[in-house]
Order: sequence, then C-alpha cells, then structure tokens
Amino acid sequence: MSLFVELGLSRAIVDALDDLGYVQPTPIQQQTIPQILSSKKDLKAFAQTGTGKTAAFSLPILEQLDTEDSSTQAIILSPTRELAIQIGNNIEDFTKYTEKIKVATVYGGANIEEQIRTLKKGAQIVIGTPGRTVDLINRKKLHLNNIQWLVLDEADEMLNMGFKEDLDHILKTTPSEKQTLLFSATFPKEVDEIAKNYLKSPVEISAGKKNSGATNVLHEYYLVSERNRYAALKRLVDINPDIYGIIFSRTRREAKDIASKLIDDGYNADALHGDLSQAQRDIVMEKFRAKHLQLLVATDVAARGLDVDELTHVINYKLPDQIELYTHRSGRTGRAGKQGVSIAIINNKEKSKLRPIEAKIGKKFIHEEVPNGREICEKQLFNLIEKVKDVQVNENQISSYLDSINEQLKHIDREELIKRFVSIEFNQFLSYYEDAEDLNGDDSKERNRNNEDFTRFYINIGKMDRLNPARLMGLINENLPKGNVEIGKIEILKSFSFFEIEKNWEDKVLKGFRNVTFEGRTVIVEVTKTPKKGRGKSDNKSFNRGKKDYGNFSGSKKKRAKRF
Ligand code: AMP
Repeated sequence: MSLFVELGLSRAIVDALDDLGYVQPTPIQQQTIPQILSSKKDLKAFAQTGTGKTAAFSLPILEQLDTEDSSTQAIILSPTRELAIQIGNNIEDFTKYTEKIKVATVYGGANIEEQIRTLKKGAQIVIGTPGRTVDLINRKKLHLNNIQWLVLDEADEMLNMGFKEDLDHILKTTPSEKQTLLFSATFPKEVDEIAKNYLKSPVEISAGKKNSGATNVLHEYYLVSERNRYAALKRLVDINPDIYGIIFSRTRREAKDIASKLIDDGYNADALHGDLSQAQRDIVMEKFRAKHLQLLVATDVAARGLDVDELTHVINYKLPDQIELYTHRSGRTGRAGKQGVSIAIINNKEKSKLRPIEAKIGKKFIHEEVPNGREICEKQLFNLIEKVKDVQVNENQISSYLDSINEQLKHIDREELIKRFVSIEFNQFLSYYEDAEDLNGDDSKERNRNNEDFTRFYINIGKMDRLNPARLMGLINENLPKGNVEIGKIEILKSFSFFEIEKNWEDKVLKGFRNVTFEGRTVIVEVTKTPKKGRGKSDNKSFNRGKKDYGNFSGSKKKRAKRF
C-alpha cells in the first residue's frame, strides 16, 4: 500500500501518485508533507535537486487549495523556464484525479500574451521564473493579493542567476499573511539573508547534510597536464562505454570547442550554452533527455534547467570557481537511488581547489589514474562481448540470409570466426590505442628529465598479483646486479605493469628477469616503446573511429557511422 496515505494525503492524490510509481515518500517528502498540512509556519528546507522536492512542496498545497476559489492562491518561483515547466507538468500529473485545478506556468522567452490569456482564465497555482513574474505583476495581469503559499524553489540558483531584485519585488507584493516555503540545496549568505528578511521564525527541515553533496556520488579526480586535458577526457569516456553524462565547461566558448572536438572524434555529443537560441537549447535538451545524445557539454547556466535522473557521470572538464557550483554539478548524478560519479580533471595548479570543495561536500576526492590504452581496449572488448551475449536476434529478418552466410563461412572454425567478428569491431580501437602515452601527472616537473635516457619495460604482473610500486622496486633491486641504477616512472595496472630504468641498464634488466617468479607466476619482462610526449600516438588528434553500437543510445546516422 502507498505510504503517502499515512502522510495525510487524500485518495485522489495518492491514486495519481500510484500511477506515477511513487509508493514510498522520499525523506524530504516525509518531513515536509505532514508539516505543511498541519502548520501555517514558514519553512526553510535544505534539499538537493532530485530528492523529490517538487512533490514535497506541491502535494500539501494541492491538498489544501480551495477549488471553489478561482483566484491565485499559490505562487511557485523557479530559477529556470525548464524547471518551471517541469513543476507545472508534475502538478498536472499529481492532480489527474482531483477536481480540476487551474495551473499557469509563466516564463521569459515565450509569448507573454498567451500567458496573459491563461492567467485571465483564472489560475489557482502560478509557477513562474522571477523576471517574467515581475513583468506580469507590473502589467497588472498577475494578482498576488490572495496568495496563501509562496514557494521559492532552488533559492540559491535564483540568487546565483541575479534574481535578487526580482525576488525582493515579488515578495513585497504578496500579502504578509501567507506561508513561505524556501527550498535550497546550499545556503550561502545571500540565501540566508532572503530567509532572514522574508521568513517568519521558519521551521527548518533538512533531508541530508546541509550543503553536502548527494550521498551516493563518488568524487574522483584525475591529475593531468594542461595539454592532455582533452585526451584524458576522451579516455575517461572510452573506459565507460555506457556513459550518459554532462561535461561541464566554464565558458560558452570552451563548451563549443569541446563539443565540436568530440563530435569530430566520433562521439555522440552536443553542446548546450547561452549562445544558442531558446529553441536550439530545447532541441539539444530533448535529444539528451531522450538519450539520443550520450554526452552533453554544457556551461553551468545553460545546464540549470536540465533535470535528468539517470546520469552516470558528471565531468568537471575544469572545476568551477564557486564551490556551490560544484555541489550543483555533482548533485546531478547519483539521483533516484542510483550510484553516480563526479569527475574532476585537474592540473597541478588546480589541486588546491579540491580541499575547499571537500570541506563543503564532506567527502574526499579519490585520486584515480587516467586509464591507459590496454585497459580501455580490455573494457571495450568485454563490453562488446556482453552486447553480443545480450543482442536480440531478429529471426524473421535474418533467416533468409542464414543459408548463404553459413555456406560462405563453413570453412572457418568457431574460434577463428569469433576472432574475426570481434576484430571487425575492434581493430581500429587497438591500433588507435597502441602505444598510447601515459597521461597521468602534470608533467611540468618532469620536463627537465630526458625521456631518451630511459627504457620502458613491460612486466606481466599487476595489481591482481598484489604488486604495488614498493614491491616492484624490491623485485627490480632483487634481480639486478648491485650498482647505482635510476628507476623512472612506475605504472601498476590490473594484470600487468610498466617501469622505466636508465637506458644503459637495458640488457642487465632483461638478463636479470630471466627465470624470475612472483607470487607463483613466471615473470616476463620485455622492452616496450617509450611513449612519445606530445606527438606520436597522442589521443589529441582527430580520429575516425568507424562504426560503433550505441546500446541504448540512438544517435544520428552520421554520428553513428563515426563512433567506433
Ligand atoms: P524532484 O526533486 O522533484 O525533481 O524529483 C526527482 C525525481 O524523483 C523525479 O523524476 C520524480 O518524478 C521522482 N520522485 C519524486 N518523488 C518520488 C517518490 N516518492 N517515489 C518515486 N519517485 C519520486
């Protein structure tokens, strides 16, 4: 049975919630619904986006609305047009079985006359963005003299977006006898000021830790040099074949640049930024929501209205200057009970930005290594195999070809056949990542070291064998003749590793590692090509990746053809 009944909601609303699949109230709903139903006190709620706050404030209002009275009884202010529309749609859904309640959604960038006509018909609930709401008040088309509830949704966002004056204006227009409900994910001093000025001894509700990020988000950072930032981004996408994420950039220009590079490189991506018209932005958002796009490169402002529950990753291509923005960015993943990952790609100089963010979100960033070519190939390969296992075969369509296909392939045995099919998908990938350089670390410290002085060795043991840098150093020292040898970079990977030793020791290393065992395994050491810095097999170059199965993601034909 729906647990919403116990919160004091009527059957008609509970039935509508049932249809939406809402059975168990979210923590914020559990707290606000009975509170607003039973008390006229103002309310100050700490709530992240995606926690169910729309229902948290609108259900108790809908429950108490006077359906006989056609005047505007509730005004809900939201920072963006998209959020306003979404709240309006949610309210329509919640009132599916309720006596008709009239709702008007008003926002800028759309025909005001039409909105005025809707208001004229009588709207008991108005949802509006601050600017357009002020405009309609000034034109005397929106009357707030009978308001009983005023909701400030995402108050921090509204202030961030420069709506302080508009909010002051609206708040002064409403009668003093009303219930004000303020929802915010963060409480910087500007929001506290609004709360102090306009809320009368509010009840405080917090679903989750104040100012903290969502609990099921992992925060990771990758340390790279500036010139490798984009290449690292691509690798992070490649190691997550089913990624569905937003890449945040700090400027419109950067958003455009990254998106166009990704598109050129065959990824299913697009940009969302303020240089696009509202209509263009709507199209991009719709494509992303429908999962026709896998990656959206967006500025903070442009992404504000976008609410998607299933994002697997948020990537901070560059960290924002304001800590609050990081909370907002990362709060977009890990929603609706799912695990999410918020990634920061940083260079050495930006490392100092992590600490203040950690203090704010109450969580530590985990330092992860940018994956190397082999790891990516392995991941992609097994992803491909999983897809082969799960693919739905359309018997009707394929059956008429099967005889001649079997005839043509009858001389190739099963093992060879598998190899060949996998290779069709995979060869380009392997060759793209062959000898791909190590992108980890800000190389500014290393610039003075001459790579030519070192030989890079491959060793067939890794983390799986409980190898770590210290044990590898021990193993090297144990098996090389005594002497002063310089060991360079060590990279420990899952099932194998790399290490560098000064060049004139190459023969001694190869000889020394003959007949060596480690944790019961025969150790193999071989010389690998030293990855060239900057050029060579850099991931920075554009690359036509051939054809790729998108799984759930249905891109355009052109893009599909390019993605590997
Ligand atoms: P919101 O924070 O209001 O944007 O809600 C985030 C998402 O959670 C939306 O997709 C809602 O439809 C969904 N949602 C909200 N409350 C519930 C609930 N009690 N049960 C299931 N889904 C919910």
